[in-house]
Amino acid sequence: MNWISGFKKLKIKVKKLFKVQEKLDPNASLWVICQSCSTMILKSSLQEQDWICSKCTYYLDKPPRAIVKTFFPEGGNLIQPPTELGNDDPLNFKTELGSYKDKLAKARKKEKQWCSILAYKGIVDNLKIHLIVSNFKFLGGSWGVNESFYFQKAVEDAIENNADAFVLILKSGGVSMFNSTMGLNAVMGAGVIGMQKLKEKNILTVSVGQSKTTGGVLASIFYASEIIIFEKGSHDVTFAGKKISKNYLAAGETMDEKTFGTAEEKLAGGFADLVLQRSEIKSTICTLAKIIKKKENLPIIENKSDDSAEIESGKILPKTAEKI
Ligand SMILES: [Zn+2]
Repeated sequence: MNWISGFKKLKIKVKKLFKVQEKLDPNASLWVICQSCSTMILKSSLQEQDWICSKCTYYLDKPPRAIVKTFFPEGGNLIQPPTELGNDDPLNFKTELGSYKDKLAKARKKEKQWCSILAYKGIVDNLKIHLIVSNFKFLGGSWGVNESFYFQKAVEDAIENNADAFVLILKSGGVSMFNSTMGLNAVMGAGVIGMQKLKEKNILTVSVGQSKTTGGVLASIFYASEIIIFEKGSHDVTFAGKKISKNYLAAGETMDEKTFGTAEEKLAGGFADLVLQRSEIKSTICTLAKIIKKKENLPIIENKSDDSAEIESGKILPKTAEKI
């Protein structure tokens, strides 16, 4: 064994050690490991690089409060969750590993939030924006009765305040199994009724999907929006996993396992309007909202030929707005 192979082996051992430490207590480790290229990244440098791996550009999980800060640099205003509901565990769910009440209490203490979503409102670029953000570290970002009531409260607040846009940035394992059918009913009801109310009040609804946006939340909340955006490189975006989905292919239909559940697959299949880099999301939503809400006297392109090569990219959106 020469010194090069010895160093490589040592590097692998160190990475394994950090992976074990991260699993045991993610908060104690000073490092995170890129899921894509296994590069070790100092946690203290994550904010500076917007939670993007500097080696392979993989998008690591961006904390929900950091997403809020990106949208509202001044902090925004938290819409208080309806904590007075007081029925966290309607089914009194218990397993061999403990009760749901205990899991919930631990998640609340660790993540410092009442349920898996945060709802904020604020002014961005003269637009009144309401923002819902998932926290995947809070029981996998799952939605149940609590999230549904909180979502409805945010919807009512957006209507009362005549918001311009209602933006959801989601990353969720789906509907909470601890809420069983009550969760399914609550999430579906909140999504369908809430989104419909917003649309009736002419409030633009935009969903932004990150990796791991799945199940009932994807179906009932995410896809109920008018504009569907995915972060570039998003994966595991699917109602059900590969094995189950394979059983429901039409005759002659095949599944490309490499692209299954990716943002690019959604775009190619017509299940997304845009796939954007993380840095483009806020500005694109604001531009679209201004156009659709007619907030600015944007220059309108001359209706000459439809030669797209001649249309400057900056004029395409105003032209779309004119059509709208
Ligand atoms: Zn990487």
